[in-house]
Amino acid sequence: MACFCFLVDQRRKMRRTKPAAGLCARCGGGASVADMKTATRFCHVPFYWKSRRAIVCTFCGSVLRCYR
Ligand SMILES: [Zn+2]
Repeated sequence: MACFCFLVDQRRKMRRTKPAAGLCARCGGGASVADMKTATRFCHVPFYWKSRRAIVCTFCGSVLRCYR
């Protein structure tokens, strides 16, 4: 079962859309709305895609808030 972990990895793509109100709690940078797409891959073949919208910090990239 241990080798299973090496075959599965996750890729995260982020596309910033527009600036949002609010400041980052960690670094105080500006926030922006971003569309996130997470792909789970097995043996380098994507088999599961998940997209969601979140507010992320433009400076350090931390996720401040998630939408459903
Ligand atoms: Zn930040």
